[in-house]
Amino acid sequence: MNCALISIGTELLFGQIINTNTVYLSQQLNTLGINVYYHFTVGDNHQRLKEVLNYALQNADMVITTGGLGPTQDDLTRETIAKAMGKRLVLHAPSMKRLESFFRDLNRPMCENNKKQAYLPEGSIVLQNNNGTAPGFIIDHEGKVIISLPGPPKEMMGMFTEGVMEYLQEKSKATIYSRVLRFFGIGESALETELLDMISNQENPTLAPYAKEGEVSLRITAKAENDVKAMALIKPVIEEIRSRVGEYLYSEQDEELAEVVAKQLMEKQITISLAESCTGGLLAGRLTAVPGISKCFYSGYITYSNEAKAGMLGVKNATLEKYGAVSEETAKEMVMGLRKKQNSDLCVSITGIAGPDGGTDEKPVGLVYIGIMYKEQLTVHRLNTFGDRARIRNYTVLSALNAIRN
Ligand code: ATP
Ligand code: MG
Repeated sequence: MNCALISIGTELLFGQIINTNTVYLSQQLNTLGINVYYHFTVGDNHQRLKEVLNYALQNADMVITTGGLGPTQDDLTRETIAKAMGKRLVLHAPSMKRLESFFRDLNRPMCENNKKQAYLPEGSIVLQNNNGTAPGFIIDHEGKVIISLPGPPKEMMGMFTEGVMEYLQEKSKATIYSRVLRFFGIGESALETELLDMISNQENPTLAPYAKEGEVSLRITAKAENDVKAMALIKPVIEEIRSRVGEYLYSEQDEELAEVVAKQLMEKQITISLAESCTGGLLAGRLTAVPGISKCFYSGYITYSNEAKAGMLGVKNATLEKYGAVSEETAKEMVMGLRKKQNSDLCVSITGIAGPDGGTDEKPVGLVYIGIMYKEQLTVHRLNTFGDRARIRNYTVLSALNAIRN
């Protein structure tokens, strides 16, 4: 099934509000395995809405509108959709009752124009609004579906999760089940290249990669009678993906990298201490966000200055002078000093240039060294990353986590 979204509201065209409804609906529909073909935005104008609606109905199986269901003059979605589908607006008594009691509870008189919200295209499935006054509706007619939801995001989302989701699942007469795999160390386009034949040839399950702040996710969506059957379709696909790009795959359950690493540490009862410079405690923050980590997390030093690196970790002044704070040697001495002080099974040091200033030709912004000492075994990773300060720091944390994974 495919779908077109129509956002209705002149304020959207003026740029006065951001179209969050479209973002939300697109994400939800994607999860449900429904392809979104179009995003339309149109003002509160009967003629133009009619034209967009007709185009959308001709080119998609399903059309979802948001906005224009309110009581005022400019709210003309109901009327326009009814006309386009050749249906009359008829009184929906339960909705009128709800409106009456809504105003009674507020102790406010109900205006004449509020009543028009209870008039809906005949034969529609009515969607109750638990967060406002305007009911939504679904028209399922001659192979086409129109779903009309209110504009305010809270009302729209409530109606989508409470009513629309169930309708869509019922309509496709199958469970839509999806798994999200997460990767680090491979870009979105490289992942797509590795899996191209699978992405373009598979219909059930479907594969959709997407990138997010230095990580890549892959959603696998299967349709089947039930979860068990859906999983049976997904499993061999995961196996195949693992055989191709398994080294980058860190979660099959949409977990954060920090969560995966923290769980491994807890399972294997490995204690950890950190000495962070350019990440300023970000890594410690990510790890300690995971419940139960107190079993393993011993300490985290923020040794930002040279003095702290020397005083707290015993990095030699000669090393700092000769090689600089951002160097393999300093990362090494930081982690060795940390190990001496804390005696944790796993010690990690981070030193780098997060920018925007401080880079040179020899040591550009984005150069990072990560020292890792597991028991007596020492390794230093050199990283050449890029981007703004926030991205470099985040990517450094992810790289450190990835380096200690397994
Ligand atoms: P109301 O009963 O509030 O009039 P409505 O269904 O008629 O509801 P609109 O009048 O189109 O909806 O929009 C009401 C408000 O909802 C807008 O002023 C805006 O704040 C918000 N809104 C509408 N459409 C969107 C959208 N696509 N994304 C985010 N917010 C929206
Ligand atoms: Mg309105």
